[in-house]
Amino acid sequence: MVELKVNTKKYKLNNGVEIPAIGLGTWRSSPEDAYKATKLALENSYHHIDTASAYGNEEGVGKAIAESKIPREDIFVTTKLWNTDHDKVEEALDESLKKLKLDYVDLYLVHWPVNTDSEDDEPTKHEDYVETWKKLQKIYKEGKKVKAIGVSNFTEKKLQKLLDSEGVDVVPVINQIEAHPLLTQPQLVSYLKSKDIYITAYSPLGSDDSPLFKNETVIKIAEKNKVEPAQVLISWAVQRNSIVIPKSVHEERIKSNLETFTLSNEDFEALNEINEKDGPKRTNDPGFNNYND
Ligand code: NDP
Repeated sequence: MVELKVNTKKYKLNNGVEIPAIGLGTWRSSPEDAYKATKLALENSYHHIDTASAYGNEEGVGKAIAESKIPREDIFVTTKLWNTDHDKVEEALDESLKKLKLDYVDLYLVHWPVNTDSEDDEPTKHEDYVETWKKLQKIYKEGKKVKAIGVSNFTEKKLQKLLDSEGVDVVPVINQIEAHPLLTQPQLVSYLKSKDIYITAYSPLGSDDSPLFKNETVIKIAEKNKVEPAQVLISWAVQRNSIVIPKSVHEERIKSNLETFTLSNEDFEALNEINEKDGPKRTNDPGFNNYND
């Protein structure tokens, strides 16, 4: 039988800031559920919480953090700039900080490379993410409200355009992207590695109603090792050197999602191959984003 251990791994990002490998995801958690889940997570050895202004639950997350006895510097908090806020970055960040009841966040991400005036708008101003990034850069350099800045849902092309742009001199520490055995994205992964940009794997379990929990390979590996299928997926992500942010609102799952084990080479490779056999399958494909460019 394999040994499951509470995962305490941390990675050093390209600006020297450390991030715990596993964090709690909170998308689709109501403010009350996010409060309860964050509280449970912090009571059960988590030191990393992922939220976003668009999730509408920063207040719940903030309340749980404020009530916890854990020193602020021992909790890594990520939040994200929403698509309609690219023209008012600092105001949006201030609003998030207020809701989170924090003086700073550890990581502030551009949620999508999409800049719209309103939720209903066509994303006509796609290219403006470079200007958005410069605003994040300025706030980062001021050294008060964010410890690190990064992006999310950026393709290689969009990132390269960003890095090549005049006036861009801070490399994102992270690109938060969908990643699991049905969407391994090998080319993007190796590009990010070459730029010293970490991946945070979102929807690592395949999100709600995940096909991965019905996948033969995942089930077989879980049964063989006497672990939960979710633990197979989270262990695989960490073994791939990703940061990983499984979401749950259930105590037992929150606890067990932090416990990982070392996959044998054979099992690790079998998981890598699912994508070629059955995938790729993206679970998060909002109409407003263009993944092909
Ligand atoms: P996940 O892959 O984390 O899957 C969450 C689903 O799996 C929920 O239905 C949850 O149910 C269930 N689940 C959790 N643990 C277990 C378990 N041990 N066994 C069985 N089922 C389980 O999906 P998400 O899409 O939520 O992604 C994770 C996080 O990534 C988000 O919450 C968010 O923080 C971030 N994210 C970021 C995006 C971006 O654009 N940057 C986009 C999407 C996600 P239950 O809660 O009932 O336990």
